[in-house]
Amino acid sequence: MKEPLVQVTDHGLFVPAADLYIDPWKPVDRAVITHAHADHARGGSGRYLSAQAGHDVLRVRLGSTARIDTLPWGERIRMGSAHLSLHPAGHILGAAQIRVEVGGEVWVVSGDYKLESDPTCRAFEPVPCHTFISECTFGLPIYRWPTPRAVFGDILTWWAGNAERGRTSILFGYSLGKAQRLLAGIHLELLDQGMEAPGPILVHGAVHRLLPPFHRAGVPLPDVLRANRESARASEGRALVVAPPSAGGTPWIRKFGQVSTGFASGWMRIRGHRRRRGGDRGFVLSDHVDWPGLLTAIRATGAERIGLTHGTTGPAVRFLREEGWDAWNVPTRFEGEAGSEAPDGSDSGEHETEGQEDA
Ligand SMILES: [Zn+2]
Repeated sequence: MKEPLVQVTDHGLFVPAADLYIDPWKPVDRAVITHAHADHARGGSGRYLSAQAGHDVLRVRLGSTARIDTLPWGERIRMGSAHLSLHPAGHILGAAQIRVEVGGEVWVVSGDYKLESDPTCRAFEPVPCHTFISECTFGLPIYRWPTPRAVFGDILTWWAGNAERGRTSILFGYSLGKAQRLLAGIHLELLDQGMEAPGPILVHGAVHRLLPPFHRAGVPLPDVLRANRESARASEGRALVVAPPSAGGTPWIRKFGQVSTGFASGWMRIRGHRRRRGGDRGFVLSDHVDWPGLLTAIRATGAERIGLTHGTTGPAVRFLREEGWDAWNVPTRFEGEAGSEAPDGSDSGEHETEGQEDA
């Protein structure tokens, strides 16, 4: 039997032909990074490769001393006996799928991805391959996303209603990716509806420090103010505040007085998660693929072999086998732990509190 092109090791996914790890869990000599979320991009490795579009956010994550090489979308390079290229995953700014080809055999590792439109990043591109290693964070038929336009319409209605009653709207979303998608989506929805914003838009420090790469990438973002005591007071209960989930339930939130809170995540599809979050409103907005999207993406690759990773893979593996695919579970170190969109609301392992981010 032929050796698999991509193998699971105790450092993460490994490509022997290129002597390269994909999103390694521990420091390695050479790593290719699908995207800058903390559970995929870890410090300490000798040399990193990322999509050119993802360089700036990865730099924020890894710091100024990390050695980061970049590749334009679709450009092929040779590493060892493998050809490697990166293709848009539609997850967050610069998120890539990794295509590996050795002797005519092609494997693609999706990283995190979604099929819905997102003005903050290049759309997912299906890449033909023999074996597709796909994320499966929401791999159950109950997970079906509403259209993003409908969700942003709901957010605007919620914000306007709160502003009328003098309650600040606090919208929680992960500081890298989700927060900027919320800002861009709200901005475009206001323009589309020809609607005046109900009040100013404020952002938490953790969101604010990640805006420059999105500005440089030409993402359409609204004018925002850094959320602090002064901007909170001046907004007189009409503001929309975008903040990471970890800011909820901390003293940081007190400066806004009367608030209404909302949480944007794929987990909001499930009532139990909405209750546990304790947010007043849940908005179903995910940067991961939903069930119909997973099947669409798998079919679009033309792959015969499907490895599923992250999340509850069992039901999807069984379903694919019944439909004739050779499918299996690809173990990850993070099964059941906090991921980039964890049900417990943790933000990729980051703790963004007032002391660190908004002193
Ligand atoms: Zn992610």
